[in-house]
Amino acid sequence: MPNPFRVEGDWYKGNLHTHTNNSDGEFSPEKVIEGYKKNGYDFLAITDHGKVTEVEEYSEEKFLLLPGIEIGVDKSSLGTTYHLVAINVEKKIEVPREIRVQEGIDFLKEKGGEVILAHPYWSGLTMEELLSLERYLGIEVYNSTCLRGIGKGLSSIYWDALLAKGKLNWGFAVDDAHFHYADGYKGWIMVKSSGLTKERIISSIKKGLFYSSSGPRIKEVSFDGKRVYVRSSPVKVINFICDDAKGRSIWNEKGREFSEAEFELKGKEKYLRVECVNKNGETAWTNPLFLEGREDFF
Ligand SMILES: [Zn+2]
Ligand SMILES: [Zn+2]
Repeated sequence: MPNPFRVEGDWYKGNLHTHTNNSDGEFSPEKVIEGYKKNGYDFLAITDHGKVTEVEEYSEEKFLLLPGIEIGVDKSSLGTTYHLVAINVEKKIEVPREIRVQEGIDFLKEKGGEVILAHPYWSGLTMEELLSLERYLGIEVYNSTCLRGIGKGLSSIYWDALLAKGKLNWGFAVDDAHFHYADGYKGWIMVKSSGLTKERIISSIKKGLFYSSSGPRIKEVSFDGKRVYVRSSPVKVINFICDDAKGRSIWNEKGREFSEAEFELKGKEKYLRVECVNKNGETAWTNPLFLEGREDFF
């Protein structure tokens, strides 16, 4: 996997899951866009339920709008609906009824979309259900509205199950903002890109050239195939997460904050990703640095 902290380019902050009053959100597209601009974002995907809200006309040199949609399809074994978020879709989409979840992913791909599996914890999906799916870009590791609504915002355990099974996918922190309560500006991705255009941002996201955050900044990640070094804004915990019981959590017994950590691999790890957690419990997540047999993170 390429290292976003090593490739050339600038960092751009964005949220890929947002609703407006074109579906069940509180505010108009204009007001939502204004809010994200004021809060220091560089790009935003509007992903209303079942329809593409046309917002690309609001794109400016310094603020990019990505067309998006969220669809609910199929039923899980618990009877809940799978939610799929797609960015970069065509303007007009007739979502077919009565399709299976994999058909939903394939349908969105046909419409040009890149698919993210939305809030698996909130949806009550089982690991088996998630493991059977293909052709998506990643899962929502953090969903602000699901956290603030019912306490089920964090899906990192699903992400690890997929990675441990060799399924390469990226972890996305998103707001899923509806603005019925304070769910906005809480989860985002920082994308390394050679420019703020739709093509460049999407290309970087597809390659995994980003990290996710609900607060901390990651300033550097270096990896020589054996030793991982991470530097961040002040945090209380840095987790080096690997398959099963490998990996390490670094923290200070006196509760002091720190901003760098190192970890040496033993050699049997199937994958490694890093989490930096600050004193408020806010977290930053790197994408996996490698997956079994693919140690190309340099
Ligand atoms: Zn949803
Ligand atoms: Zn949503």
